[in-house]
Amino acid sequence: MLARIWGCRGSLATPGPRTVRYGGNTSCVEVRPSDGSLIVLDAGTGIRDLGWALGPDRPKTIHLLLTHMHLDHVEGLGFFLPIHDPETELHIWGPPWPYRSLRDRVAAYLAPPLFPLLFEQIPARFEFHEVPDGRPWEIGGVRVAARPVTHPAPTVGYRLEENGCSLAFIPDNEPALLCDLALAGRSQVSGLDVAQGADLLLHDCQYTAAEYSTRKGWGHTCVPDFARIAELSEARRSLMFHHEPAHADDMLDAMLDEVRELAGGNGDHVQLAREGMELDLTSP
Ligand SMILES: [Zn+2]
Ligand SMILES: [Zn+2]
Repeated sequence: MLARIWGCRGSLATPGPRTVRYGGNTSCVEVRPSDGSLIVLDAGTGIRDLGWALGPDRPKTIHLLLTHMHLDHVEGLGFFLPIHDPETELHIWGPPWPYRSLRDRVAAYLAPPLFPLLFEQIPARFEFHEVPDGRPWEIGGVRVAARPVTHPAPTVGYRLEENGCSLAFIPDNEPALLCDLALAGRSQVSGLDVAQGADLLLHDCQYTAAEYSTRKGWGHTCVPDFARIAELSEARRSLMFHHEPAHADDMLDAMLDEVRELAGGNGDHVQLAREGMELDLTSP
């Protein structure tokens, strides 16, 4: 598997000079299994550039795995060029919700008054799949599994495995809401079932500890909690993801320094997710 980050900002797209190094587009990661098929994690604003970069020879079948329906994870979908091609078959995977099907939740966004076209006018063929809880399935030789995480909406984290390599994608998660991370065992910490032993973990790290003290219940992780999750998960490499829109590049650098300090001598396996970052998961 190869992966490329097209957006790692949280909450709201944040273009401008303060965010050029880590990027301002919201959540979107391209994953390419060894058979060349295309899996996309989330449809934040980063998916627009992915659509352009794919060009005319793109795969006709695309699998989009949505972690949840908050706008920063879906708002790029209407501007993803392949959906305007009748030859595209777009499989959208996402968490179930008892009150509304996944199709109806996506269609509600891709229709007036939020979008200029009717959902039925969009040329691509859509297939919707509500993800099973914990039971893996296959996409292009990749074993995919989803588990619910702690966030104020039905939300999952995804784990993708191929040829002994694993990628865990948990852009929005607030484990500290339900347990004391300093004391909790692994089985009590939201997201760790997805992240455990992953070769690469992309995990929410939106806030400083001071910011988090006034934003409990908003669904996100702060610096010391991220450091603890990275430690407990035993992931080989952990990337801080879902950057707070108010944080300029220098602020993110300072947050990384703090995580590395908390991680002691093993801090090098922690990095900041950056738009354009390419991640090689071809050998364990
Ligand atoms: Zn988000
Ligand atoms: Zn969210």
